[in-house]
Formats: sequence, structure tokens, C-alpha cells
Amino acid sequence: MTENLYGKSRRELEKILSPLSDRPFHARQLFGWIHRRGETDFSRMTDLPGRLRAELAERFHVSLPKVEQRQASRDGAVKYLLRLEDGKGMEAVYLPEKTRVTFCISSQIGCPLGCTFCLTARMGLVRNLTAGEIVGQVAVLAEEHGLSANRYNLVFMGMGEPLNNYDSVLEAFRIMTDEEGLGIAPKHITLSTAGVVPGIRRLAGENPRPRLAVSLSATTDALRGDLMPINRAYPLPVLFQALRELPLAPRERLTLEYVLLRGINDQPEDASRLAALAGTLPVKVNLIPYNEAAVTGYASPSLPAARAFRDRLAEKGIRASVRRRRGADISAACGQLAILDPSTLERPAGAA
Ligand code: SAH
Repeated sequence: MTENLYGKSRRELEKILSPLSDRPFHARQLFGWIHRRGETDFSRMTDLPGRLRAELAERFHVSLPKVEQRQASRDGAVKYLLRLEDGKGMEAVYLPEKTRVTFCISSQIGCPLGCTFCLTARMGLVRNLTAGEIVGQVAVLAEEHGLSANRYNLVFMGMGEPLNNYDSVLEAFRIMTDEEGLGIAPKHITLSTAGVVPGIRRLAGENPRPRLAVSLSATTDALRGDLMPINRAYPLPVLFQALRELPLAPRERLTLEYVLLRGINDQPEDASRLAALAGTLPVKVNLIPYNEAAVTGYASPSLPAARAFRDRLAEKGIRASVRRRRGADISAACGQLAILDPSTLERPAGAA
């Protein structure tokens, strides 16, 4: 099979084209055809010389993930199962809201972090996604819903830990924000991490960079270490030090996500400790009532209890909201993305 050019950066395309063309702007044109216009057929890239188009077609192809399954929730969310070139599957979710649309996208197939309440963790890490596969999710969902850039927000809150696949995620970010690419504003892209501190430190040196959300879910190292093993490597003081060192844009706020687990982290003392931690940074807190997945042993607090927790934070001056549960009827809600059926995860490459 020839090499796939989807997901190559402009710079990579320049390198690839240099033996075939002595015009550097051909790489920019090719990049624009692929990402801005969504063209996958070289022969239709009419402003490239015919000879170059023919040579490209001989050596390369342009291919995006294929939609294999769409599952629509009663609330309007749609979960996509996308098939990749090596036959593996990945999931992405379309989330319409009143005034905007959010795409929840994956950075890895499965996840290595082992958070005890998250279903994706049950898969373990299958593999990293490539930059092209990450951008491909966005292009496919935008096409499915007829949305042009800046009509949607992106959140890296699907499967995987984006900072454990740093290079591909940042390469995808550059392609997505490139004016000649998808042209999405950086502030419309949010990366969510479980607290991979070296990745947060690297992000501090990127400009532009995505907005950052951190999944906190506990306010003591003892509890967080039990729920999220990553905390044993990067405990709370280390995590918060890295967050304080992240240069923020004017009016930028970090998001702290907090999965509410009944009887485990939803008590008044938890809210007080969370307010104390959150008060050290410009943040907003996003409370996510636990979604009952196939992970047993946890329960969600009632909605009034979740709101009482939010109000306790608000009393201490912390901006907080309770995230509305979306797509739970199709297992598309937070922490529910997983391909646990091996026949769905794996389809031999080339099979229809
Ligand atoms: N690995 C990254 C990206 C995944 S985001 C991260 O952890 O931030 C997925 C979000 O869903 C995280 O905030 C996670 O804490 C949350 N989550 C996981 N399992 C959940 C569940 N069962 N119910 C509600 N939220 C859950």
C-alpha cells in the first residue's frame, strides 16, 4: 500500500514533495487541498501541474477514517465508531448544545492510566493515534454535520491521555489551527489531562497551545492515588506547581474536572478542600456526576447533592458548574467510551 498523506504537516509535505517539485508553494497548495477543501483525489487538485498530480497518485494516497457506526442519543449526541487504515476502531462524539457544537475526540485507542472509575481504562492502551487519525475525526464529524471551522469546539476528552501522545496531538493541533488547514481558533480547542506533569510543562512552551483542562476528582494524595494511579507519579503539589507555571492568555481560565462519586469524594470536606486548591489558580470547576458505566463499585450522587456541592464551591468564590449528562443511553458519556468487543475493535485491514 502507498503512504497516506492525510495528517502530514506542511513541513512534512515540503520534504515529501522536494524530489518531485522545485516549487515550495506546491506543498502549501497540496496541504490546502487536503485540509481546507477536503479533497482526497490528486487528479482534482487542478492548480498543481498534471505531471506532479500523476506522480503523487502513483506514490501516495489521501485517506480519512471511515464511519462504520453512528449511534444517536435521545439528547442529540451522536457517537461515531470510526474505522482506521490498520483495521482498528476508535470513537468520537458529536455534542450539540444550544448555541454551539462540541466534538469530543480521542487521542489514543484505549488508555494506559488505569483510573478506577473510567471504562476506557479497561481496554488498556491499544495504541496511540497518529496526527492524521486525530485530525481525521474532526474532519469526518464536521463533514457529517455540514459544519465549517469555528462553528464547533473541540475537546480531547474521548479515549486516551492526550499528553501521553504529545507529539501527534500537538501536530494535529497545528494542522487544525493552520489557516491553510482547518482554521480552528486555538481557544476553541481544549486538551484534558489526568495530570501528566511533564506534558503540562512542555505545553507551557507552546504558542499557540490548546486550552487546558485537568481531571482532578480528588483533593488528597491518598484518595487521588487510589482513584488515579498517575497521582502516585505526580502528586497534587507537583501538579499544581506545574499548573501555576503555565503562562495563561488574558482572561484564560483552566478547567478542573471533578467526577463526583457518591460517598467517596462528594462530602462537604471535599468541597472545602477543592475550593482551597482551586483558589490558588484562575480556574473554573466542572463537576461531572459519575456516569454509571460497566465499572462497578461506584455510584453517582443525586442531582440536588451535586448542586449542593457546586453551591459550596460558589460560596467560597469558586466558579463551578455541574456538567449535564450527555449520550448516556448510547454509552457516549464521559468515561464510557470503550471498545470492549474484540470484533468491533479489530477488523482485519482491507476487509470491507
Ligand atoms: N485522560 C484525559 C482525557 C479523558 S477526559 C483525562 O483524564 O482528562 C475524560 C473525562 O471523563 C475525565 O475528566 C474523567 O475524569 C471523566 N470520567 C471518567 N470516567 C467517568 C465516569 N465513569 N463518569 C463520569 N466521568 C468520568
